Amino acid sequence: MIVGIDFGTTNSLVAYVDEALQPQVIVNERGARLTPSVVFFKNDRQVLVGELARSQALARPEQTILRVKRKMGTDHRYTIFGREYTPSEIGGLIFRKLKKYASDFLGEEVTHAVVTVPAYFDDNQRQGVLRAARIGGIDVVKLLNEPTAAALAYGVYERGRKLILVLDFGGGTFDITLMEYQEGLFEVVTTGGSTALGGADFDAVLARWVVETVREEKGVNLENDPVAMYHIFTTVERAKIDLSSARETTIIIPYIALTERGPVHIHLNISREQFERLTAPLFEQAFSLVEATLKEARVSPLQVDVVILSGGSSRLPLFQNTVRSMFSHAEFKAEVNPDEVVALGAAIHAAMLEGRLNHVELRDVLPHSLGVLDDDGCFVPLIERGTTYPTVATRLFTNTRDDQDQVVVKVLQEREGHLVSLGYFHFSSQRRWRRGEARLAISFIINGNGVLEVVAEDTDTQEVATLTITGSVFGMPDGEALVERRGTGLEVF
Ligand code: AMP
Repeated sequence: MIVGIDFGTTNSLVAYVDEALQPQVIVNERGARLTPSVVFFKNDRQVLVGELARSQALARPEQTILRVKRKMGTDHRYTIFGREYTPSEIGGLIFRKLKKYASDFLGEEVTHAVVTVPAYFDDNQRQGVLRAARIGGIDVVKLLNEPTAAALAYGVYERGRKLILVLDFGGGTFDITLMEYQEGLFEVVTTGGSTALGGADFDAVLARWVVETVREEKGVNLENDPVAMYHIFTTVERAKIDLSSARETTIIIPYIALTERGPVHIHLNISREQFERLTAPLFEQAFSLVEATLKEARVSPLQVDVVILSGGSSRLPLFQNTVRSMFSHAEFKAEVNPDEVVALGAAIHAAMLEGRLNHVELRDVLPHSLGVLDDDGCFVPLIERGTTYPTVATRLFTNTRDDQDQVVVKVLQEREGHLVSLGYFHFSSQRRWRRGEARLAISFIINGNGVLEVVAEDTDTQEVATLTITGSVFGMPDGEALVERRGTGLEVF
């Protein structure tokens, strides 16, 4: 059975397509559908992943890792109990946990999955997620773009051309993707949004309001009390969620502080209108990001055919209502649980690959150009952005100096004028080339996951070298990149 995995910043989910061909979320050992993407190191041998790890985050932050997805494919390192871990190794622990409970639930070992990634993830980030899955014991059959998964969950793959807007409003990010769909091809037209706007910002506004009100009414400042602030944040998040279905709620926290006059309790009523007034700047920011994304693509709201909502914060009634009125001509898709829509879409794609559901051939479009750096330091693209993949491109290169027996091939991606290093390799020859004598065929192969493999062949000797991604082209550090361990030797609970 191939499952679908939504490896999220805040929460991760596993889903599968059942015997009745319905996509279903797999519950974890606690009976929960979402597993927090949090890793807690109990000691140097044992880690907790999920809800239990999240509840330790406050008490022992130095042993807890949150939001590792944001670090995928970077050279960030975590040092815990004196040992270094790459983001992929930490992600691998989360995949191990997901694999474990999904295997228990299905009664068979889960070994293969369709794993989702944001549409804007570049080659480094995609490679990072692939490594994390592999370390966690999962073979990735396909890396699927999250907005494409959301579209699959809504069955947006009938005939005809459609312009689809996916608004993924999560805990910490707001991802906007405009896609064009035509005969199996989901083409990302543009992506926008913010990595610094999400549900947590609404919680922060409410928490500030609570702190201010307590200061005014009781003369107590809770701001510098981390335990009180933790209780306030968890309670206001619940109140915010209540206000998506109720018109009014009460924030109650007994014994939040102790003064000479006795204990201080919080008991505050708040209405949805009041909440919406307090958080109006955040809503405005969200809507202006949607407008800016459409403007960049020179698309008017009237041209959008389908609007799909995902992410927990898309349940905010003011968000839903405003988006509905902005796109009153479009088909509006918000019935599927927005926390689950991406995982369910991944499961549907998995079942298509298994031949259990009718297959829709998915092709994606490369969001950046890929190429090499020439001797003058100029970027030479081999595959231009906008190319549909899977694809292969080959180009002949030569050497630029006499008496040369080696060339260094530096592989980069370019996006909006920024060059990002993907790696480099040395191509050595048995003999010495005169200037312009070498004939090296460099091929860039992009597989269905949007991941690049680079192969260089000396066309005279048929010697072949394959790029392994280590280090950075810029500065070319001598130090070896930390070698990732397949088995970290850690027990995951
Ligand atoms: P996600 O990153 O997609 O898991 O979304 C998590 C965010 O959605 C958190 O900030 C939650 O507080 C928020 N959220 C979940 N349910 C609701 C709801 N019913 N109303 C408003 N926000 C919600």
